[in-house]
Amino acid sequence: MPSVASSPDQAPAADAIHATLLTWYDRHARRLPWRSPPGAAAPDPYHIWLSEIMLQQTTVAAVAPYYADFLARWPDVGALAAAPLDDVLTAWAGLGYYARARNLHRCAQVVAGDLGGRFPDSEAELRRLPGIGVYTAAAIAAIAFGRRAVVVDGNVERVVARLFHVETPLPTAKPELKALTDRITPERRAGDFAQAMMDLGATVCLPRQPKCLLCPLEDHCRGRAAGAAAELPRKLAKAPKPTRHAVAFWVAAPDGTLLLRRRPEKGLLGGMMEVPSTPWREGVWAAAEAGPAAPLQADWQVLPGTVRHTFTHFHFEVTVWAASADKTGFPAEVGRWVALDALDGEALPTVMRKIIAHGMKQTALAAPVNEDG
Ligand code: SF4
Repeated sequence: MPSVASSPDQAPAADAIHATLLTWYDRHARRLPWRSPPGAAAPDPYHIWLSEIMLQQTTVAAVAPYYADFLARWPDVGALAAAPLDDVLTAWAGLGYYARARNLHRCAQVVAGDLGGRFPDSEAELRRLPGIGVYTAAAIAAIAFGRRAVVVDGNVERVVARLFHVETPLPTAKPELKALTDRITPERRAGDFAQAMMDLGATVCLPRQPKCLLCPLEDHCRGRAAGAAAELPRKLAKAPKPTRHAVAFWVAAPDGTLLLRRRPEKGLLGGMMEVPSTPWREGVWAAAEAGPAAPLQADWQVLPGTVRHTFTHFHFEVTVWAASADKTGFPAEVGRWVALDALDGEALPTVMRKIIAHGMKQTALAAPVNEDG
């Protein structure tokens, strides 16, 4: 059963929508560091690819300094391909989703090596590259190469659900919203159209309070006409996130260094540095269980407070135990000693930086671990 709350002859006219939106974009396009102005020559595919990978799951404001830093260090795809992976992970630290940084580096190596430094210009070929999915391939093909591609991200889904008054909840509505986006995507200026939809979603058709009075598409918008704009898109209720727990081990040496270790290459935060910890699990760790998972036997002190962090699929709560240790004869396979004032140069994800900040603040307040408790 179709969910668009209109008959076909009442549906917004595709030609009028993209013409109106492109006219609006010509005047109101956001100026972003990776963009060419509306109607200008296509931007460098390396710039578009880098920005699109960085922008997944985060905001323009969060990405801008990372993008500038990456371009300053690695001005083209060959330079990025030649960089040590650890340098790329360190520069990426804080953006989250670290598998993306690893794929970014692998993709740069494929483009610089196998493809002679040129990104392919079709969606199908782009999708064969590491880390480039359906959305990113469409965005690069449209924006960097002017190909007609249907570019659908969360902002576009919201605008289209409102424009066509789609009542089907997400994620069920995804194919329907993609087909409707296809219907209004023009043959020419598909890249500008995609960016116009993104800009409209980011600046006018806002999630909670759409600014319909400022919207160029107000006259075409069936959600607005029905008074339902702010309630769309509908969403299926999400299951609550579980909470995982761990004990992290803060091991400091008398010379002001801290024990870190590298996480396994595969899996969450793969290849990043970490403060050693127990496995992460849904049950709270009793002291007697956590002790055997420590990287060494020591006179552990439990630090007051808890470190909390939220990942996409779970909340994470960490208790920190602290001990001092003698580095002499310490087995190298357990980890690496890093000076506290050199931590900025390490590929530490945000959650580990939180644990380290907690350790630095709380070590003076530690109390002995009671393994009977
Ligand atoms: Fe969004 Fe309102 Fe514009 Fe419709 S009229 S597209 S709801 S801002």
